[in-house]
Amino acid sequence: MDLKTLQQRIRELRRGAARKDKHNLIGAWREKDRLNGCIIDSFVIILRTKGCRWAYHSGCSMCGYFNDTNPRIEEEDLKKQIESALEKYSGEPVVKVFTSGSFLDDWEVPSQIQEMLYRRFEDAKRIIVESRPEYVTPEKASRIAEYGNIMVALGLESANNDTLLYRINKGFTVDDYIKAAEILREYKVPVKTYVLLKAPFMSERQSIEEAIDTIIFASKYSEVISLNPMNIQNNTLVEYLWRRGEYRAPWLWSVVEVLKRTSHLDVDVVSFPTAGGKIRGAHNCGACDEKVLSGIMNYSLTQDMKYLENLDCPCKRKWEKIVKYEDYAWDYTLNR
Ligand code: SF4
Ligand SMILES: [Zn+2]
Repeated sequence: MDLKTLQQRIRELRRGAARKDKHNLIGAWREKDRLNGCIIDSFVIILRTKGCRWAYHSGCSMCGYFNDTNPRIEEEDLKKQIESALEKYSGEPVVKVFTSGSFLDDWEVPSQIQEMLYRRFEDAKRIIVESRPEYVTPEKASRIAEYGNIMVALGLESANNDTLLYRINKGFTVDDYIKAAEILREYKVPVKTYVLLKAPFMSERQSIEEAIDTIIFASKYSEVISLNPMNIQNNTLVEYLWRRGEYRAPWLWSVVEVLKRTSHLDVDVVSFPTAGGKIRGAHNCGACDEKVLSGIMNYSLTQDMKYLENLDCPCKRKWEKIVKYEDYAWDYTLNR
């Protein structure tokens, strides 16, 4: 698919031409998670909303969430989705709410719907909602703080403004993240931060170093940090590069490396790679993926380094060479 066709396809999807399922959740399932040093059950809900406002305006280079959204969704549809999520809920202590955008954006999720969800799940020990920084205001934070069980997840991705601007097209800067995190701290609302591993247009080594720097930076503001290795989503710039052979999802060895080198921090650093072991997600040679993924998951749940030690495979030597020499290849290509 060339860039023009891709842009046309994105426009069609944004008009909602292919999406009529307004009442249906994108998904709901149970999974293990970590809370206050313990492994617990969590309930994940993905609400189908109008989608991320930034995606209508421009959008991040790796984000294909708009594929599942519908611009015609109204309040009544969201109410029905929340009721249907409740029918599936069986009292898990953590409820994670995703929207393919920002739950705290009143345009995407009207504030009365936000409140409805908080009330419906008020018995959960923790409700995690996601937001871009611009929707975190003192008014919003003070309202959230009244419930006492809400955590806000901010997708910082990188603490490098060049990466935010040129590689991800994130539409905000590190200062915007700091401002939002400080507002939340003022109202004692805990913060979770997402860090991306391997934005496009960077080498494997650069992506490792930048993720480590970002995690160290974000640890000042966060209770938990989720390291999210890139997964290649449909109809995105990253997919376009990948199809041309100009992008590879990160190695699972890189995930292990980042987790090891941030294990000394006071915050929990976890990683549950989406599409892990698959060609569109973080992967190794194929032979060791399952073993390494299970080490990463177990480490994330327990923070016990024993799960990351002694992992090995012949492909690790190849990864080490890529980390060591890929930058030279880039320099050669760019300066020739
Ligand atoms: S990654 Fe988040 S901020 Fe970026 S376009 Fe997707 S939903 Fe919006
Ligand atoms: Zn291997």
